[in-house]
Amino acid sequence: MHFDKTKYKVYTWKNAMVFHWILNPVVAINELILGQRIPKVMLEDKTLNKPKFQRTFVPCPHCKTLHDQKTWATQNGTAFKNWFGLYCKSCGNIIPCVTNAFSFLILAITFPVWGWFKKDLKSIWLKKQPKRYENSNINQESNAFNENHWIKAGLLWGAFMFLLNDIVHPYFNEEKITGATLFFGAILWAIGGLAFGHSMNAFMNKK
Ligand SMILES: [Zn+2]
Repeated sequence: MHFDKTKYKVYTWKNAMVFHWILNPVVAINELILGQRIPKVMLEDKTLNKPKFQRTFVPCPHCKTLHDQKTWATQNGTAFKNWFGLYCKSCGNIIPCVTNAFSFLILAITFPVWGWFKKDLKSIWLKKQPKRYENSNINQESNAFNENHWIKAGLLWGAFMFLLNDIVHPYFNEEKITGATLFFGAILWAIGGLAFGHSMNAFMNKK
């Protein structure tokens, strides 16, 4: 697809944010567990004077529809569970997404386990999609990261990382879990989570 470059700024893997998404090991959790994906191509309308999340569009390469990015907003319940890509409600095809390097590695290594079920899993997933988008509303003014929602989102992310790094990981590696490791881990991930939430918020609201 070709886009009017005077109107749109085109985001692909060459963009720093997308590239970071590909290289950051933590993102594998977002992709593989939460099913949070970002499309291979995003368009930012340069002519609108609104926060970034309100003027970012996702083109469907199959039917050429320009979807408002809010189609996959948390409020619509469609921000996650997109393991096979972003579903296009206009044509029923899947909009291709970038894959994090570590997700790719994990998927490649575990392929013998899930490879057998891939086709079935995908068709089950695909069948569920139309219903998920029935009530999607792209006209909401607020964004997932607005109204201090980012604090909640950041802390949730931090809590998840804490669980993984300070409890699950040491448990399976037979490392010691003490009051001190839990205490410092909790503080560290709370701060890390807030920083993560805040930076996402700053990015999405940038004009
Ligand atoms: Zn489409």
